[in-house]
Amino acid sequence: MEDISSAFSHRFVLTDVEQQEIVIESKENIGVKTNKFFLVGVVLSDKPVNKEALRKTFYTIWKPKARVTIVELEQNRFFFAVNTRAERATILNGGPWVFNDYLLILAEADEKVNPIRIPLVMQEFWIQVKGLPLAYMTRAMGRLIGTALGGYVVTDQSKKVGYLGSYLRIRASIDVTKPLRRSLKLRLDGDLLEVEIRYEKLPITCYHCGLIGHMEGSCTRKGVVYEDDKAKPYGKWFQQDVLGPDYRRPSGRRFGLSSPTGWFM
Ligand SMILES: [Zn+2]
Repeated sequence: MEDISSAFSHRFVLTDVEQQEIVIESKENIGVKTNKFFLVGVVLSDKPVNKEALRKTFYTIWKPKARVTIVELEQNRFFFAVNTRAERATILNGGPWVFNDYLLILAEADEKVNPIRIPLVMQEFWIQVKGLPLAYMTRAMGRLIGTALGGYVVTDQSKKVGYLGSYLRIRASIDVTKPLRRSLKLRLDGDLLEVEIRYEKLPITCYHCGLIGHMEGSCTRKGVVYEDDKAKPYGKWFQQDVLGPDYRRPSGRRFGLSSPTGWFM
């Protein structure tokens, strides 16, 4: 039987009375009946997010056809109830989304699961793999690299965005609790090949530790102080070669949910 208990009983020895289960024959009559579709999201930021600002942004960017309920579950973690399955799918598939330049990770939620317990650590990104020989710019290689990075989703095979061009473009899930990988070593028929990994629409990321969600000023892993940006483990270069020489690091823009066509709206 499905166990949806909290961790409480793992932390304490329960009394006999507390051990007794109340048996409910059917979930049908006890739960809330709903025709809403749920999302749970966390803004990966070291600063607290204002719920009203998030609500305004939600309406501005996603333009829901009817009222959306937004509940703050804990600091920077929110629960959204939208009105159609299609609306939820559009939101989920359009990411990565950013709020004030900080990553907003979203996942589908189910009314029967406690949304606090839904893990929000994986985020899909479009990724550019640079340095591959032309012969290996294939879907099979995309799958291999995507899997190595965290979770393969798809390889972009439209020629205009780089297939058979200067890079292989794949969509993959990344574990945001780990520093972003900048490169990957491949052993191909005995030969070592190092490819560079670049992320499109990257939200605020620390140039010292490579973690998403804070800037260097508030980095707790900062050891060495770098005079020159180029000497940092991560830096402007990390985005410049994806976004062009005019790239400027985002700095607290009010409305920053990324759109499918551009970087920021
Ligand atoms: Zn850091």
